[in-house]
Amino acid sequence: MFDPKKILILAPHTDDGELGCGASIAKFCSEGREVHYAAFSSCQKSLPAGLAPDTLERECKSAIKELGMDAGKLMFYNFEVREFSQKRQEILEELVSLNKYIQPDLIFIPSSSDIHQDHQVIHNEALRAFKNSSVLGYDLPWNQNRFSPALFIKLSAPDIEKKVKAIKAYQSQSHRNYMQEEFIRSLARVRGVQSNNEFAEAFEVYKIIS
Ligand SMILES: [Zn+2]
Repeated sequence: MFDPKKILILAPHTDDGELGCGASIAKFCSEGREVHYAAFSSCQKSLPAGLAPDTLERECKSAIKELGMDAGKLMFYNFEVREFSQKRQEILEELVSLNKYIQPDLIFIPSSSDIHQDHQVIHNEALRAFKNSSVLGYDLPWNQNRFSPALFIKLSAPDIEKKVKAIKAYQSQSHRNYMQEEFIRSLARVRGVQSNNEFAEAFEVYKIIS
């Protein structure tokens, strides 16, 4: 039943996709599925002082390589971090174009209870733009005060290793508590225990088309 062919990850900012579903991306790539990744901001304003403006784009390219993704399927947009709500219609139009261009049968988006203002815009506009795709919400616990997972993707130890390496590619973000290897592994264990497996990533389900 769960057999997506074309998958699109919608990341408000570089790193959201790897954090929310990096190990699932690694699994999909190892299964030969087509995975696309769109990042809407490379957060130049949030970078520590002294770093080049393209730092996060470079780190994102390294990260998706660790997951086994084709570099040609990574797309960047330059929306300003924390200002997505002012560009809501423009973002919707980009999502509509992405839908026409890729025609994914499954998309991954921030969850409905994610409190980050940019994540909320991507969540809401994606539901408008992708009418013919199954839609799952990924797990970013530091942005959520509740999360109701209904789909668990079971993962292997190598999938988790690839996610850990992808997160480590974000050297400019290594000071953040949710980028720590122990946290990444622990969350995969928690979601694994919930689904009676060693490791998993968990998702809210908004629509399944099969
Ligand atoms: Zn983000």
